[in-house]
Amino acid sequence: MNKLETLRRHFGHEAFRPLQEEAVDAILSGRDLLMILPTGGGKSLCYQLPTLMMPGVTVVISPLLALMHDQVTALREQGIAAAMLGSMQSQEEQREVLAQLRRGELKLLYVAPERLAGEFFSRLLQTLPVNFFVIDEAHCVSEWGHEFRQDYRRLSWLRERFGSIPIAAFTATATAEVERDIAEQLRLRDPVRVRGSLYRENLTVTARHRLGDGRGQLLELLAAHRGESGIVYTLSRKQTESLAEFLRSKGHKAAAFHAGLEAEEKRRVYEAFLADEIETVVATVAFGMGIDKSNIRYVVHMSLPKSVENYYQEIGRAGRDGLEAETLLLFGAQDLLMQRRFIDELPEIPYKAHAYEKLEAFWRLCTSETCRHRALAGYFGEELPACGKRCDNCLAPASQQREITEEARKFLAAAWRSGQRFGTGYLIDLLRGSRDRRILANGHESLSVYGIGKELDRKQWGVVADRLLELGATTLNEHKGVVLTQKGAEILKGLEAVTIRQERMETKAPSRRASVEPELPDDFDAELFERLRERRKAIAREHGVPPYVVFSDKTLRELAIHRPADREEMLSIHGIGEVKFERYGELFLEVLEEVNRFS
Ligand code: ADP
Ligand code: ZN
Repeated sequence: MNKLETLRRHFGHEAFRPLQEEAVDAILSGRDLLMILPTGGGKSLCYQLPTLMMPGVTVVISPLLALMHDQVTALREQGIAAAMLGSMQSQEEQREVLAQLRRGELKLLYVAPERLAGEFFSRLLQTLPVNFFVIDEAHCVSEWGHEFRQDYRRLSWLRERFGSIPIAAFTATATAEVERDIAEQLRLRDPVRVRGSLYRENLTVTARHRLGDGRGQLLELLAAHRGESGIVYTLSRKQTESLAEFLRSKGHKAAAFHAGLEAEEKRRVYEAFLADEIETVVATVAFGMGIDKSNIRYVVHMSLPKSVENYYQEIGRAGRDGLEAETLLLFGAQDLLMQRRFIDELPEIPYKAHAYEKLEAFWRLCTSETCRHRALAGYFGEELPACGKRCDNCLAPASQQREITEEARKFLAAAWRSGQRFGTGYLIDLLRGSRDRRILANGHESLSVYGIGKELDRKQWGVVADRLLELGATTLNEHKGVVLTQKGAEILKGLEAVTIRQERMETKAPSRRASVEPELPDDFDAELFERLRERRKAIAREHGVPPYVVFSDKTLRELAIHRPADREEMLSIHGIGEVKFERYGELFLEVLEEVNRFS
C-alpha cells in the first residue's frame, strides 16, 4: 500500500496537509525529524502513518500515561495495532503486551519516559525491531520551556544506546530557544525541520478585563454554548470547586478537576467529559496536557495563566476538529501582581530575569489592541498578518478612549486620606458614601473623600481601580491594601492624565457577535444532526469508547449536510476510511436512509 492508500484506508482522509507529507517523507527516508505544529495540526498522523509502511515497531514516548490510553483506544478503532505499557496496568495486561511485542504484532508502543530508564525495559528494547522513536511533547526536555520534566532530560540516553535508530520529535509550541534545546538535548542528527504556522483559523480569541470575579462574563459565554463541551481554567483547587458548584446552581453540567482529587474521581470526571455527559470542566492546569477530545468548543481562563506558552497550549485544546471554537481570557492587574510575586519567591536561578520578561510580554499581549493571533504568533517568532475576523481586537470597532483623570484622582485621594491601608472594596464604599460598619467604626464618614464618588457604580469604580494598578499608579501591599506609587502621586496632584478604553466603563456588557456562531448552510437539518449524535452515543456506549472516537463532530456535521446514501458516498466524508466504514458505516446509513426516504 502506498502513502495515499494508507491515509485513506486507516485515517479516512483524502489528502495530506502540506507539512504532514514532508514529515512523513522524512521518517520514511530514515532521517531525524523535529516538527513544530500547533495543536490540531495533525502531528500524530505524521508518525502513525509511516510505521504502517515500515517493518518493525515504533516506540512513542509521551508524558501522560492516563491519556495515552485513549489514544491507543482510538488507534485500535482505526484498525492499527497499538498498545501501551504503563504502571497502571495489571501484571497480566503487561505480560500480554510483551507477548504481542515479541510476536511482532504491534506497530505502535506508547510508553512513559520514566519507564525507559528502567533496566528491564531498556533490555527489552534492544531485542525489538524498533523502526524509529517518537518523542511527543518534546518541549518538555527544555528548561527554557514551560513544562520541563526531569524524565525528559534523560532521553539523550536513547541516542547513546540506540545510535542508529532515527528519532522524531514533536511539539506544538517552541520558541527559537526551546527548538534549539530540543535538538541538542535529544542529540538529533541534522534533523529535517518542519515548522507550521501557529495560526488557528477556527479559533476566535478574546481577552478581556475581568469584571469583578468574572462569573457574569463566563455565564454569558456559556449561554452561547449550551450543550457543548468546554474547559474553564482557574488557578487554585478551591476556585475550581466553588466555580463548578456555582455553574451547577445555574443549571450547567459542570464538574471540578484538579490534582488533589482521588484518582477515581479524576477518572470519572474525565470519562464523563469524553462521553459528553459533563459539559464544562472547571480545572487547574492539571487537566489538559494530552487531552484528546476533538469537540471542545470553548476554553476560558478566569485569570492570567502562568505563561504565553501555557496559554497557547491551553486554548489549543479547543476546536481540534477544525470547527469553530471560542476562547476567552479574563485578566486583571491583580493577576500580574500575583505572578510577579511568584517569580519574586523563586530562588536566584538564571531563568529568573527571563521569567519577568516573559510575564511582561504576556501582559502587553493582553492589553494590546492589535490582532491577538498576530501578537501570539509574534511571541513565538512568527510573522502573521492581522486575522481580520477571528479575534476581539480585529472585530471591535476602533476603540474610543475616555478620560477618567478626575475619577482616578478621587480614588487615589481615598486611598491616601485613609492611610493607604485599605483594599479596593473598602475604598469604593468610602467614595460612594456607604454606611458600612467598618467605615463608621473607623470614623471615616468624616473624611473629605467620603461620598464624593456617587457618579459611578461599584463595578465602574472597580474598573478605575484596575486601570490604576495596570498603569502602575498603585500597587497592593500584602494585605491587599492600596498604596500609591510615584506615578500615583503625580496623578493625584493633577500632573498627569488617565485614559481608558471607552467600553470598559460601560455598565452593560457588549452584546455577543454573531461571527462566533458556526457557519452552517441555510437548510442544515439540526434534527438529523441530533439523531446522528444519539446514534453515535449509543454506539460509543456499546463499544466502551468516547463518542468522538467513533466519529468526530466534523464527520457528523458533514453527514448531516451531505446525507450520503451508500458506501461510496460515505467514504468521501471527512474522517471515514474503510476501517471505520466497516465498523460503523451501516449503523449511520440506517439513520440517513430514513431521512433520505422522506425527502
Ligand atoms: P495534533 O496531534 O497536532 O494536535 P491531531 O493529530 O490530533 O493533531 O489531529 C487533529 C485533527 O486533524 C484530527 O481530528 C485529525 O483527524 C485531523 N486530521 C489530521 N490529518 C488530517 C488530514 N490529512 N486531513 C484531514 N484531517 C486531518
Ligand atoms: Zn485578529
